Amino acid sequence: MTSRRVNAVSPSATLRISEAAKQLRREGKPVVDMSVGEPDFPTPAFIIDAAYRAMKEGKVFYTPTKGIPELLEAISWKLKEENGLEFPPENIIVTPGAKYAIFEAIMCLIDEGDEVILLDPSWVTYEACVLMAGGKVVWVSHDEDFRDAPVEEHITPKTKLIVFNSPSNPLGVVYPDSFLKKLRDLAVDHDLFVMSDEIYEKIIFEGEHKSVASLDGMFERTIVINGLSKTYSMTGWRIGYAAAREDIIKAMARMQSHSVSHPSSFVQYAAVEAIRGDQSFIGDMVAEFKARRDMLMEGLDELGIRYAPPHGAFYVFMDVGEDSLDFCERFLRESYVATTPGAAFGKSYNSWVRLSYATSRSNIEEMLRRLKNFIG
Ligand code: PLP
Repeated sequence: MTSRRVNAVSPSATLRISEAAKQLRREGKPVVDMSVGEPDFPTPAFIIDAAYRAMKEGKVFYTPTKGIPELLEAISWKLKEENGLEFPPENIIVTPGAKYAIFEAIMCLIDEGDEVILLDPSWVTYEACVLMAGGKVVWVSHDEDFRDAPVEEHITPKTKLIVFNSPSNPLGVVYPDSFLKKLRDLAVDHDLFVMSDEIYEKIIFEGEHKSVASLDGMFERTIVINGLSKTYSMTGWRIGYAAAREDIIKAMARMQSHSVSHPSSFVQYAAVEAIRGDQSFIGDMVAEFKARRDMLMEGLDELGIRYAPPHGAFYVFMDVGEDSLDFCERFLRESYVATTPGAAFGKSYNSWVRLSYATSRSNIEEMLRRLKNFIG
C-alpha cells in the first residue's frame, strides 16, 4: 500500500536502539546509553536568549524559503573566515537540520539509476536518502588504516555523486589531505559531484578540518553540508544549511518551498547569534570530548579491542569479532548498555559496533566495567 520509495528504506537502526534503551530505562533498569548522536551539553544561554528575544520582538512569521538574509550573510561570512570558501548568500540555503539539506540535495541531484558512492561505513541517512531518490548505492570499504578508500575502482559511467563526512560518523576519522586531493581529481576527471558533510568540523582532537570545496576546481562540484546541531548543542532546534552552485541551491529552494518552507523563524535569528557570537565554549566542549575519548581508548586498549583511530566527532568504532546486531542486542539485554551495530552503517563492518561518548565520564567508566564482564 505504501510507496516503493518509502518501502526502500527501513527505520533508522540508531533510533531503534535508543528507543529500546529508553524503554528499559522506563522499566527502571540502570541503562548506560552509548548510542546517542548528540552532545550532552546544554545550548549556550546566549543562543537561547536570542531565540527568546526574536519571539518577543514578533519574529514569528514566515521567512524567505532560503532563510533570512542575516543568517545567509552570517553563514557566508563563516564559510569564508573559517573554511576559506567564497559562497555568497545566493549559493546558500538554510534547512531544518543538516539532515534535510542532505535529503534535499540528493533528491535534487539524483535520478533513478544514478550511482552514488558511499564510504563504508557511513552515517545511516546517506543510504536512505539515495534509495528514496531512486539512486543506487555503491559501497566502498576503507583501507586497513581508515585513511583512504579505493573510490577510483568503483566509478562507472553512471556515477554522479560521492558522499563523505569528515570527521566521520561512525569512524571519528579525519581524512588526510591526500584523500581530499584524490576525491578532487576523481570528481574533475569524471565530472562528478561531491557532497561534503562537515557537521563535526569543530570537534577535532588531532589534525585540522579542511573542506574539499576549497581545492582547485571543486567550488562548482561540491555541496557543502553543515549545521548547528553538534557545534552549538542545538540538535532539537533543527537548523542546518547547504552551500553549492546556485542552480543546485535554487532547485533545493524549490523543493523546500513546497515541503517544509523554511526552518522556524526565531531559530534562524538565534542561529545568527550562535555563528557571530562568542565561540569560546566550543573549546571547553572539545576538551571534554577529548578527555572522554582518551579514557575510552585506554579502556579498549586494556581489553585488547581493535578500533578505528578516532581523531574527531564523538564516536569510537570497534571490532567486537561477532555479528554486531547480536552483540548489541545481548549487550543491551544482559548488561544494559546501548550501542549501535556496525551493520547499520554499511556492508563490510558487520562485526563492528559504534560507541558514542556523548555521555559522562562516569558512564564511560561504568560501560568499560560492564564490557569487561560481558566479554569475559
Ligand atoms: N550528518 C552527520 C554525519 C550526522 O551524524 C548527523 C546527526 O547525527 C547529521 C548530519 C544531522 O544533523 P542535523 O541535526 O543537523 O540534522
